[in-house]
Amino acid sequence: MTTRRKDDAPSALLLTNIRQLVTLRGESVPRRGPELGQLGIIEDAAVLCSGGKIVAVGSKDEATSDDWLKAHKRDVAELDCSGAVVVPGFVDSHTHPVFTAPRLNDFEQRIAGSDYETVAEKGGGIRGSVSGVREATAEELAAHVSRAFAQMSAQGTTTIEAKSGYGLTVKDELKSLEAIDIAEKEFPGTVRSTLLGAHVLPKDYLDDREGYIRLVCEKMIPQAAERDLAHFVDVFIERGAFTVEEAEHIFTAAWEHGLGVRAHFCQLGKNELGDLLKFGPASLDHLDFIRNDDVPTLAASNTIATLLPGAVYFLGRSQYPPARKLIDAGVAVALATDFNPGSSPTASMPMVLSLACTQMRMSPAEAIAAATINAACALRLQERKGSVEPGKDADLAIFDVDDYREIPYWFGGNRCAGVVIGGELYQPNLRAAG
Ligand SMILES: [Zn+2]
Repeated sequence: MTTRRKDDAPSALLLTNIRQLVTLRGESVPRRGPELGQLGIIEDAAVLCSGGKIVAVGSKDEATSDDWLKAHKRDVAELDCSGAVVVPGFVDSHTHPVFTAPRLNDFEQRIAGSDYETVAEKGGGIRGSVSGVREATAEELAAHVSRAFAQMSAQGTTTIEAKSGYGLTVKDELKSLEAIDIAEKEFPGTVRSTLLGAHVLPKDYLDDREGYIRLVCEKMIPQAAERDLAHFVDVFIERGAFTVEEAEHIFTAAWEHGLGVRAHFCQLGKNELGDLLKFGPASLDHLDFIRNDDVPTLAASNTIATLLPGAVYFLGRSQYPPARKLIDAGVAVALATDFNPGSSPTASMPMVLSLACTQMRMSPAEAIAAATINAACALRLQERKGSVEPGKDADLAIFDVDDYREIPYWFGGNRCAGVVIGGELYQPNLRAAG
């Protein structure tokens, strides 16, 4: 899998005749409250990209009057975006792509009436993906991860957070991170990798919680940091997984090794924030059952609330994250797919946007901002990603629609015509078809 990189290729790309360019430009980052819905739309717009960066943005006349462009016209490839909407490439800030097979038995058991936790107790759930990962090589796992990255980018995603978490031994967690690293090298977009050794207790540690947490803190985290295989450490804080106190131990180890932290929080039941924010997590994710008392605390912090409605939909549950309450209280909200084989097997950010609109009453504008600029903040990449402004990475998604509101409107299909990554057109859709 390669992008177009010919020696004689033009050194710059000019996107012209864009019907609606959603810029998300502005000082206010992350977006909170009413500012979440301000998209900074330019009609009949153009974007000039060079050296992997955005150089000029504006109405067609403004962008094409750029001095550099005038002097280098012959070096510029033009991409006619007539009738299309262009948005910043989506930032999918929560995915679990390192697994080998779908969990179809879990799917059928839930349809027959079992809930997520009962399925897990019967040997399904997270532990159901472990043997496949342990038996595979890093290269075999990387092929699965690459396929997921291609499916994501085919639907407008250009930056991806990818977690380990189905190995649950030092060797298999590091192998999972290596697989992400291999897939990242083949993918033109940006990847941020996360060690999720604390996903669930592996079978052989069910009676030794402390022993497993020591393994995460004293072996997995130091080795992942030493080998530069992870940007973040994540913990699944949930009944049946890990407690807030255990997460604090793990976060302490992450900090000691220079890694950022993030956590799954309040997905299946209520929990108290405790001192979690003291560790400055980049994001707390899910929050379906966040306590009212914790909302103002979260709003006063720099931690992003990443909402994952795909998991609520796919588990057939009814309680979606309280997006309106969070946004209205000033919490910085992001959206992501939670791509994983158990609870959210979707690579589609547009589908997540649709769920956010119909099930969580976010406006289409709020959903797009949550999936771009705020999601970039959830990965601490807001200086480079999430808006279309000069100096930022030239990562864009082109949608074959007349109006940005159609992106969440046409649910279940794919209107993404292609993405631009680092200033180069990348069309995994067309590659798959051809
Ligand atoms: Zn997750």
